[in-house]
Amino acid sequence: MPSIDDFARDKLGQLRSRNLYRSLTETTRHDEHWIEREGRRLLSFCCNDYLGLSHHPEVKAAAIAAIEQYGAGAGASRLVTGNHPLFAELERRLADLKGTEAACVFGSGYLANAGIIPALIGEDGLIVIDELAHACLWAGAQLSRGQVVRFRHNDIDDLDHILKTRRGGHPHVLIVTDGVFSMDGDLAPLNELSAMAERYDCWLMTDDAHGLGVVGGGRGSAAMSGAKVHLQMGTLSKAIGAYGGYLCASLPVIELIRNRARTLIFSTGLPPAIVAAAIASLDVIARDPEFAASPVAKARAFTRATNLPDAQSPIVPVIIGGEAETLAASRLLQDHGFFAAGIRPPTVAAGTARLRFTFSALHPDAEIERLAGLVRSQILAN
Ligand SMILES: *Cc1c(COP(=O)(O)O)cnc(C)c1O
Repeated sequence: MPSIDDFARDKLGQLRSRNLYRSLTETTRHDEHWIEREGRRLLSFCCNDYLGLSHHPEVKAAAIAAIEQYGAGAGASRLVTGNHPLFAELERRLADLKGTEAACVFGSGYLANAGIIPALIGEDGLIVIDELAHACLWAGAQLSRGQVVRFRHNDIDDLDHILKTRRGGHPHVLIVTDGVFSMDGDLAPLNELSAMAERYDCWLMTDDAHGLGVVGGGRGSAAMSGAKVHLQMGTLSKAIGAYGGYLCASLPVIELIRNRARTLIFSTGLPPAIVAAAIASLDVIARDPEFAASPVAKARAFTRATNLPDAQSPIVPVIIGGEAETLAASRLLQDHGFFAAGIRPPTVAAGTARLRFTFSALHPDAEIERLAGLVRSQILAN
């Protein structure tokens, strides 16, 4: 047998024995939040499509029209022939929404972070990053070859201490954080972080994957706080219901990114249908700020009913601790018609395996109440 197969089997055996093995389960999303898995119809509480826009009639119609007009694929990198006319429209809309001079759209949020950070920080630079920042921010930081130092989650004193001792040794320093933390649902203290960036002459970058469309009247976490953020990155794959990543920033920064970000230059442009869908979603959000606010309101109804701390975003973690117990809790909910995936290491720290609930504008209130009752009596009571 080839040694690579032995190697893979051995690694998989280790994952299984630690309850960390993962597999793909076919899931059909019939409409916004009802899914079918293994022959069962379940109400999903772990989809990031917070406004159900992936299934919105206007969004689907825009995607279909774009295919008819421009074809299925972009055909090349945006810098070659892949820059179809819809990109400029989407970038203008994103920049307007975020109040920046310009924007640049990438193939995905992951690709955006893997491209932006190395385009700005080199070997002599320093990246100071929240310990709970998303995996792709860490990937971008590592690709930069700069020094990477973590600060304790949302801990301004720790950040201050790091900058006090290290700022002098580098020409450029980038502070990196999620705006809304993807596994905990809490918000970064952007005003304090921005003050630190100013005080130590650093650049501040936020990843607002879970903020756009749902906090700050749909405009995201920077708008909500009013803080000055030099680099506002995000994704079109969550509340926007489509796919892709973006950076909103000043015009010179965006021009530099277009010239230097390798994940933009060496990867094919997004398909026209996806870009058209994102534009249509932004229309829906701009039209109805109350709709954009409703996922957080639904999450709050759940945290009140379960006596958990008030939700600050549509994401609510219920920390279980062990991996096996978390999988059992997820199965229990499935037996009652709900789907909430168990989140295990390495996605979260060892000992903090959890159920992660995400709330949508379209979840029926009565179902949220029933879910809260189950979580209170069967999961939190143990
Ligand atoms: C989902 C997510 C990403 C990745 O975005 P994709 O468009 O799915 O690649 C980046 N950052 C955070 C915080 C996320 O939650």
